Amino acid sequence: MRGREGVRQFQLDFRDAHVPGSALVGEEGQGLLALWPSTHIERVLMAALAIGSARYCIARALHRAGDRGVFGDRPIGAEQSIQHPIAHLHARLQAVQLFVHRTAARFDGGVDSFQIAGEANMAKILSAQLVFDAADHAVQTLGAQAWDEREGIIDLYLDARCSRSAPISQELALNFVAQHVLGLPTHR
Ligand SMILES: Cc1cc2nc3c(=O)[nH]c(=O)nc-3n(C[C@H](O)[C@H](O)[C@H](O)COP(=O)(O)OP(=O)(O)OC[C@H]3O[C@@H](n4cnc5c(N)ncnc54)[C@H](O)[C@@H]3O)c2cc1C
Repeated sequence: MRGREGVRQFQLDFRDAHVPGSALVGEEGQGLLALWPSTHIERVLMAALAIGSARYCIARALHRAGDRGVFGDRPIGAEQSIQHPIAHLHARLQAVQLFVHRTAARFDGGVDSFQIAGEANMAKILSAQLVFDAADHAVQTLGAQAWDEREGIIDLYLDARCSRSAPISQELALNFVAQHVLGLPTHR
């Protein structure tokens, strides 16, 4: 696997594994339903991680924009093509952060996880796109320096790209919002 995660990937094999009936989680044959609520919480957790990474990418871009002079002493951050995307990312960060915190607070307040699934998916969609755009602009602002692996930006860029595919892809999260929040029809 490329990219960094808090844990490594493992494969589990179960052979002749027996557990007592009292260990059953949820109802027999409904394992996915027992698992479902934890996936909602995971989306909010990943959204919070994405916000932290986005904030860091913006800070790195900001530092470089104010520091790097090309063709003279004037820093590249004086150019609107560099500063406007940073300003826009900063504004988006404020809004997405509020939304993710509100969703997390509702979880902490004990709201039923099925009721909050729409918000968990929206938090994931918004934060994944934010961190991807923030990492992309950090790479652009750092120029060739971003490709120096010691800077850590390329690792962040890969992680940010992964946010759009995991822990659920943007498309499937958008499907959920379209069909279960907005009531649009499905294929089936
Ligand atoms: C590093 C990593 C960590 C992960 N961590 C988790 C995790 O913690 N928890 C977890 O549950 N999963 C996790 N995943 C799995 C992740 O949710 C899936 O990889 C992702 O949903 C895409 O599914 P897939 O890989 O089977 O691709 P496919 O299902 O083959 O999909 C390929 C592409 O087609 C799109 N697509 C498929 N069906 C539709 C549709 N009906 N409408 C629109 N677009 C569609 C998908 O969005 C995707 O872009 C992780 C994946 C990676 C790479």
